[in-house]
Amino acid sequence: MHVIFMGPQGVGKGTQATTAADRLGLTHVSTGDLFRAAIKAQTPLGVMAKEILDKGELVPDDITLGIVESRLEELAAEHAAGKHVNGALFDGFPRTPAQARGLDELLERRGERLAAVIEFTAPREVLVERLSGRRVCPNCGATYHVDFSPPKDDSICDRCGHQVIQRADDTPEAIERRLSLYDQQTAPLLNYFRDQGILKTVDGNRGVEAVSADIVKLIEESATSNI
Ligand code: AMP
Repeated sequence: MHVIFMGPQGVGKGTQATTAADRLGLTHVSTGDLFRAAIKAQTPLGVMAKEILDKGELVPDDITLGIVESRLEELAAEHAAGKHVNGALFDGFPRTPAQARGLDELLERRGERLAAVIEFTAPREVLVERLSGRRVCPNCGATYHVDFSPPKDDSICDRCGHQVIQRADDTPEAIERRLSLYDQQTAPLLNYFRDQGILKTVDGNRGVEAVSADIVKLIEESATSNI
């Protein structure tokens, strides 16, 4: 079974996805992370995607669906090799109607299913505040905030000792563009999943633990209610 986390950038999907994936035995599949890894490795996909990501625009749907399909194939291969893989927890995907339809077709072909779509909400000013103060470790992926959760030693990652940075798409212009794109392209998908009866909403403007407890409960309920 697979699960989708949806919500605007800065709502806390990434943070929650890491914990929820561990607690539920799911594999965290963040398309943003997959693109950033390709950029770091300077693969042909990465070279193409870099400019798009830096501007805060969306990577074309066929390329995004291709990267997701490859990741699902890798998970199936791990499963076949005996590794315990319950399914994927998608974070930042799907982001457009074409991606949502493409995912449905892909899962149908593979005989797999979506158990739940969790929507995270928070007021816009909270999102902007979180994104503009966000710092990330380009080495291990740890996330910080300059005011709410700074690294212990100024700009050095607590986890791996690398220098933390501000993402190129966390500038005010790119943040504005990404939030508008979410409103225009991604928010309408909520109805698509609501019509399928698998959409659940969580208030993301609370402490990490409270949000996390709600999510695990909702996913466990969904896993047992629509197998
Ligand atoms: P994120 O880490 O989810 O905020 O994604 C960072 C950037 O990666 C986005 O601003 C897009 O440029 C690109 N990206 C990530 N996921 C997708 C997707 N599903 N479709 C298109 N572009 C994406």
